Formats: sequence, C-alpha cells, structure tokens
Amino acid sequence: MRKQTFTHFAEYVLSRSLLVFLTILTLCLSLVYVIVINHNQLERLQMEQLILERGIRIDDTLSRMLNKTYIISATISYNYGNIPNFPQLASMLISDPAVLHVTIAPNGIVSEVYPLRGNEALIGHNFLAEESADPLTKLALQDEQLVLGGPFEASPGEYVLRGKMPVYLYDPAGHLWGFVSVTIEYPMAFLGTGLGELRAMGYDYEIWSVDTQTNERSIISTGGYSRSPGARYVEMPISVANAQWHFRIISARAWYNFPEKWLSIAVSIILSLLVTAAARSHQNLKKLKDKFEQLSNIDPLTGAHNRRYFVEHADLQVRRLERNGRESYMFMLDLDNFKKINDAYGHKFGDVVLKEFAERTMAVLRPYDLFARWGGEEFVILISEIEKSSALSLAERVRSDMASRHISDGTTEVTATVSIGIARITSGCKLEDAVSRADAAMYHAKEQGRNRYVLYDEG
Ligand code: GH3
Ligand code: MG
Ligand code: MG
Repeated sequence: MRKQTFTHFAEYVLSRSLLVFLTILTLCLSLVYVIVINHNQLERLQMEQLILERGIRIDDTLSRMLNKTYIISATISYNYGNIPNFPQLASMLISDPAVLHVTIAPNGIVSEVYPLRGNEALIGHNFLAEESADPLTKLALQDEQLVLGGPFEASPGEYVLRGKMPVYLYDPAGHLWGFVSVTIEYPMAFLGTGLGELRAMGYDYEIWSVDTQTNERSIISTGGYSRSPGARYVEMPISVANAQWHFRIISARAWYNFPEKWLSIAVSIILSLLVTAAARSHQNLKKLKDKFEQLSNIDPLTGAHNRRYFVEHADLQVRRLERNGRESYMFMLDLDNFKKINDAYGHKFGDVVLKEFAERTMAVLRPYDLFARWGGEEFVILISEIEKSSALSLAERVRSDMASRHISDGTTEVTATVSIGIARITSGCKLEDAVSRADAAMYHAKEQGRNRYVLYDEG
C-alpha cells in the first residue's frame, strides 16, 4: 500500500515538468550553495592564517631595523653625550640592505652619518631648525621616544620610512642630547615580509595609517591590483614604535569571479533540463502505453470491455470468491430479434442500437461490475458479491431500461428488447461453467418469449 502511494506520488511529480525541473534545480543549487559556503569558509580561514603570519613578519622586520636606534642611543647616554666610534658601532649594527643610513644629530644637527659615502650632504642638517616643518621630529619630542613615520618622498620617486629617536642624557634634568635617526628604503622594507607572494595566492593587501588629528587615511603599502567591490577581507592592527597601522588582506576574487561556481550552476541547470525532458518523455510514453492498453481492452463500437479483457479479469474475481465465500452472478444478455432490426433499418442503425444498449446498461451498473461485449449482439456482466434479490432487480432494471424507451437516430425510432440469462457463481465454480449456465438461462428467456430475465435452474 505504501509502495503504491509512493508510486502514485512519483507519477504525479513526473507528470509536472516544472515541478521536476524546479526540484532538481533546487537540489543541485543547494549543493552548489553548500560548496560555495565551504569554499568561502576555507578562504576566510586561509586569509586569517595569512594575515597573522604576515602581520608578525612585518612587525618583526620593522622592529629589527628600528631597534638599532636604542643601542646607539644607550651608548650615547652611557658616554655622557660622547660617541667616539660611531661608524664602527653603526657598521656592526647595520646589516640590513633596506636600511639606507643612520645618523646622529647632537642638538638636532647631523654630525655623523653611516654609511658616509653618498650621504655627505646630510652632515650639518638641522632637525630642530625645521621643527615646525618636520612633524616626525615634533612627534619624537612630544612622545620622548622612538617614532616611525613615512613613507616620505626623500628624492623624486624615492620613498623612505624613517625612525627618529630623541636621546636624553642621564643627568638629573634629563637634558635632550639630540637625535638618532634611521632611514629605511621603501618598499624594500617590506621585502622580507612575504607580501609579494599574496598575489599569486589570489589576494591583495593594504597597509595604511590613520592620522589621529585629521582622521585621514594614508596608504603605506598595497599590492594595488584591481579588486571587485564587496570582496571579502580580514584585518589586523600592527603597532611598530608609536605607529598604529592597519593591515588588511583582501580576496582578489569576488564571489561571481569563480569559474567553477558558474560551471556548477550551469551544470545544475542542464541536469535539471535533462531530467525534466526524461520525465516528460517517460510520461508521454506512459500515456501512449495507457492509451494503447485501454484501446486493446475496449470494444471500439460500444465502449464496453472486450471479451479478452472480460475473461482475464472475471477469472480473477471468480477465484477471489473462492476465498471469501461470497456469491456473485453472471449475466448473459442478448438483444432480441436483432437480425430483424438490421434487416429493417440497416446495419448502421443496428450499431446505434448496440451502442445505446451498452450505454444504458453501463449507467445502471456499479463501478466494480464487469461488463463486456461477448460478441455480436451478446453481452456479459459479472456482478460481484451481491444478494440474489439485488442481482435480479438489477437484471430487471437493465431489461426495463431497454424496453421502456425508444432508440432513435433522428429518423428511425424503435424499441429494442433484451433477454437476460442469470447464473449464480458459487465458490469452486469455473468461469466457463458460469458463462454457459447464463447462456442456457438466456435461451430459456428466448423460449419464454424474450424481453425477460431467467435465473438458471440449479436443481
Ligand atoms: P434472437 O432474438 O433469437 O437473439 O434473434 P437475433 O436476430 O437477435 O439473433 P441472430 O443470432 O439470428 O442474429 C444476430 C444478428 O446480429 C446477426 C448479425 O448480423 C447481427 N450483428 C452481429 N454483430 C453486429 C454488429 O456489430 N452490428 C450490427 N449492426 N449487427 C450485428
Ligand atoms: Mg445472439
Ligand atoms: Mg439476439
């Protein structure tokens, strides 16, 4: 029973092309959605891991370059403002190729620079004189500690980051001695931080600072490739010396930029269309099959079942009777003097009578009674599980329906009658026997004057 319900449901779904299409499409797209979500989560995890790792590397690299200023500054303070061997000390400390030069500036005036070659012009430069023009120096004096600034355009097209540290003497007043300053080539500063590799991995990045006074954002470093709006990103703060930077890694591919997603959506649609087409052809085939089967079971003139169908199905019903012990009745029906009707009004009118008889009879039968054209103007009915009195009144109904009303084709009008033979079917009774008994009873009806029913005498 459950299997049948399911089959019916499946048939119903298959018969609705749109429903099939939408169901399969929904299934496929849900799958695509899950894949996309997983992919996005994976990408986010990868971005989070990348930003942490690259963030630490940026912090490390810059701190390593800037920390030299602490050593130089400590040496100056320790020597009460003297630094007799600056070039030697600086050469020991500065090994990083990104560090352009280190200067010391007692009283703000650059006295020494390492390396000297190429940087001679810096000697004598006064940081304090340009205090008003150099915000970094101002900031160093204000914070009394190492500050980082940049990128500045040192010479046309050449950018640098600069760390500047105010040096104070170890005297009770803590007098300002001057400055130590380190200049780092930009973007070489970021060379060892692995930012360049991000592009190949499908990411862009941005490092920027925000001016605390103007709230203005200035880009420190970026991969600068084109990005789609709404691209996913992760962000972390980086603090080097006083500088508060923001670091962001951005997915260079927008959600619609993944060919595999479009491909799977296209495959989903094609698959849905294919399944829909298959369901449709299955349905058409089934309809054809049903139609064919129906046609092969039905008598084309009268619309009643044919003899082949009757024998097949009546046999099943008779056998079922054996099991439940109920009784049924077999009717054999034969139109009276049909030859005369044919002779008098023509074969075509005879057909009209046959059709009318079948229609009137089917109208009084119950849906589960089996009615068939046995051949010529003879018909059979198997009336299942019925009381004798009801079977007889049904026969009377069929008889009187014919006898009491004219049959007309518009020009000819006749009254046709039918003789009915009835045989009781009991458990163990064979179908052929039931038919021949009904047939015998029908002949009795003919003998007794036609237009009547006769019950087969079992005695
Ligand atoms: P009875 O009352 O004894 O049954 O007489 P009858 O004339 O009905 O019996 P008979 O067997 O002599 O004649 C049956 C006729 O039915 C003969 C045949 O031409 C006619 N017939 C059989 N099939 C068809 C059909 O499909 N259409 C028409 N119009 N006539 C048919
Ligand atoms: Mg006959
Ligand atoms: Mg007849």
